[in-house]
Amino acid sequence: MRPAYLNIGERTNVTGSAKFRKLIVEGNYTAALDVARQQVEAGAAVIDINMDEGLLDSKQAMITFLNLIAAEPDIARVPVMIDSSKWEVIEAGLKCVQGKPIVNSISMKEGEDKFREQAVACLRYGAAVVVMAFDEVGQADTAARKIEICTRAYRILVDEVGFPPEDIIFDPNIFAVATGIEEHDNYAVDFIEATKVIKATLPYARVSGGVSNVSFSFRGNEPVRRAIHSVFLYHAIAAGMDMGIVNAGDLPVYSDIDPVLREAVEDVILNRPQRTNVTNTERLVDIAPGFKGDKTEARVVNLEWRNAPVGKRIEHALVNGITEFIDADTEEARLSFDRPLHVIEGPLMDGMNVVGDLFGSGKMFLPQVVKSARVMKQAVAWLEPFMEAEKEGQPRSSNGKILMATVKGDVHDIGKNIVGVVLQCNNYEVIDLGVMVPADRILDAAKEHGVDIIGLSGLITPSLDEMVFVAREMERRGFDIPLLIGGATTSRTHTAVKIEPGYHKGSTTYVIDASRAVGVVSGLLSRTEREKNEAATRDEYVRIREQYARGQEVKARASLPEARKNRFTVDPADAMPGKPSFIGVRAYESWDLQDLADHIDWTPFFASWELIGRYPLILEDEVVGQAAKDLFADAQTMLKRIVDEKWFTAKGVVGFWPAQAVGDDVAVFADESRSEEIARFHTLRQQIKKSNGKPNLALSDFVAEQGEDYIGAFAVTAGHGELEKAKAFKDAGDDYSSIMAAALADRLAEAFAERLHKEVRTQLWGYAAEEATSVDDLIAEQYQGIRPAPGYPAQPDHTEKATLFRLLDAGNNAGMALTESFAMTPPASVSGLYFGHPGSHYFGVGKIDRDQIEDYARRKGWDVETAERWLAPILNYEPGQAARGAAA
Ligand code: SAH
Repeated sequence: MRPAYLNIGERTNVTGSAKFRKLIVEGNYTAALDVARQQVEAGAAVIDINMDEGLLDSKQAMITFLNLIAAEPDIARVPVMIDSSKWEVIEAGLKCVQGKPIVNSISMKEGEDKFREQAVACLRYGAAVVVMAFDEVGQADTAARKIEICTRAYRILVDEVGFPPEDIIFDPNIFAVATGIEEHDNYAVDFIEATKVIKATLPYARVSGGVSNVSFSFRGNEPVRRAIHSVFLYHAIAAGMDMGIVNAGDLPVYSDIDPVLREAVEDVILNRPQRTNVTNTERLVDIAPGFKGDKTEARVVNLEWRNAPVGKRIEHALVNGITEFIDADTEEARLSFDRPLHVIEGPLMDGMNVVGDLFGSGKMFLPQVVKSARVMKQAVAWLEPFMEAEKEGQPRSSNGKILMATVKGDVHDIGKNIVGVVLQCNNYEVIDLGVMVPADRILDAAKEHGVDIIGLSGLITPSLDEMVFVAREMERRGFDIPLLIGGATTSRTHTAVKIEPGYHKGSTTYVIDASRAVGVVSGLLSRTEREKNEAATRDEYVRIREQYARGQEVKARASLPEARKNRFTVDPADAMPGKPSFIGVRAYESWDLQDLADHIDWTPFFASWELIGRYPLILEDEVVGQAAKDLFADAQTMLKRIVDEKWFTAKGVVGFWPAQAVGDDVAVFADESRSEEIARFHTLRQQIKKSNGKPNLALSDFVAEQGEDYIGAFAVTAGHGELEKAKAFKDAGDDYSSIMAAALADRLAEAFAERLHKEVRTQLWGYAAEEATSVDDLIAEQYQGIRPAPGYPAQPDHTEKATLFRLLDAGNNAGMALTESFAMTPPASVSGLYFGHPGSHYFGVGKIDRDQIEDYARRKGWDVETAERWLAPILNYEPGQAARGAAA
């Protein structure tokens, strides 16, 4: 009968376990002992201990740890394998082990004499010994070499040294399979075959091996690695393998492995003939991600592409966003070209063209393209010193120069940066002036650099006006280059109706998203196609203006008095939200980032990378699923660092006050006496004609006109620290991480708003103390009360943020500020009002007429033109014309 197979615990190894290494380096031996104990409890019959770490006094660490183990009966009941490549560490260990130790390992690497010498020493200590299949030539890879070396070692040990054969454990080398390199395909079979022969021909000797090596190419995908280990052991044990170094307790039962996965793994392990048009490795690589747990990050590493010629390797690295080998490949290419510049113009540009084509045809997605850019930049950075050394100073030719800027008053960066990267990928030179850039600076820089195109970006509605201004300035200053308009607040209609008519000397084009940028730009810079493209856009915008004008005529509105008569009224019998737990403000200096991370709504995260679909379904999407999964894994990795290393500080402030509706406004009082009004929020009322008894809403309707009612407000940010991080990444040529950091800061800020709102409902205001909402319910906003944000449809007036910030003292309490267009800084910020009434809900004010504009202007202390400017997006008339609703 075959003796039972033994697991050797592998986790007490500083080279194999980052956790164990950290504990030992920190000198936390108590926790390190727990690792050993866990291995024994999980079924390890031996524990392998390795302290080979450059920063450590390995010898001392080995002695300390072995002595501590000796005092722990529950660990000391299993034998110890002293694992080191340094003989002095092994000897030191041998001196303090009680019971029978095992030495891991000796070999004929340095010749037979040294081998004999070490074997004799082991014998003297009564130790069993692991013998690696390693000789003067190197490590044995094929079955024949493994057998040959083990046989020679056995003869020396048994016949010459007099070593007891039952104390010999051979390690015939387990190497990684499924690496993509054909010569590696038979490695598992070689081990299994050698094991059979060793067991049959070298009496009493045992066979062991480091099992986790076999799955090395799947690192990052632990479930698949475990399956590979289990299948490998199943076959190796059948061949006679006696013991294996594994993560004890972490092996699935062979028969429990998913049959599809098991078969694919088995084909690889046994190197069976391939049954489809793909190799066994390719098949396993294909299906592996589907069996990946959600905690894993790294992708399967298939290195087959490393065998291709250098140009192809560069292309592969660009398309797949792999930076690992790009320096070496770029260097190899450089050596084969006359000039470093030719590497850029040759293989690098060729590779980027492939990326561009794949992106253009929908086979690659934005996050992947941005990753490609990172590879490209790294390669160019490698070449730069060589180009400088040539001192030719001749700039490399680009397809054109594009100036990009976010307009004055606005801080929108992410989308603009993405467009910039995509353009750079297509060999356009991008001059990015950043955010909050006044018209003069944009146009001066355009002249100075002689750019071919100007691109303007904006996130909030006041930026629309600023863009109109920049266009007029271009006209006034005699520009004739194309103007591009993009960003969340912009639209084709606004571009056609408001921006284009101000700029006649050149063309104006709206760009809906980053995926269109290259098409639009190349169309505008093409010598042959430019005129045709510009004419087509002009015609289209004429049509849009006509359509817009027609649309304008039909929308009759209720007059403001009519709309007010049809308001929603808080009924005194309603379940009012009641009195908050405090009046005034409360600041949070640093909210727990992990708590915020747990509340992230991921769907908008994918949208910011132009991957459209609901999370988590998007991860399984047929088209974008893989791109989404990769992006998500990268996001998780960075998010963990943001939390662990405290990249950002989440600051916020919340306040509650007695309040009362006064017409369409809300008066806010200092205290319960309601005698001192400290602020007034102005709100706007829907004027669309309602049928079926629906009210014409204003946010003020959700606050009582009489009696005791309250309002709340908040301002939160996760942006402290974000700009610095994003800039550091960008400066290092890593736009991908830069954009990722900014996008995650935005997510954390939104999560903060959601999380604080919950605190408000259940504690601070406390009107829904019993609320039991899941994170999904929170994200769906399935709860009582709302937190409308100024600038959003229920209150499109961004200037209301000034009142909000003053009441909350958001500057001192959260380090937040407003730009002249009422954009919040840091950019990753959210603010709004809290309404607790059960009838409160989100709505859109829609278009309003001149009568309300006049009324609103009076309440705000503005003239009518100012009101028309701030509320331009919702005017139901052309400013300067008579109001239809009011005139009727
Ligand atoms: N979970 C989302 C939340 C942002 S969108 C995210 O992580 O991005 C929802 C928020 O937008 C609301 O909480 C509110 O603050 C604002 N909002 C949505 N519709 C609104 C409307 N009609 N009027 C005012 N604010 C609105």
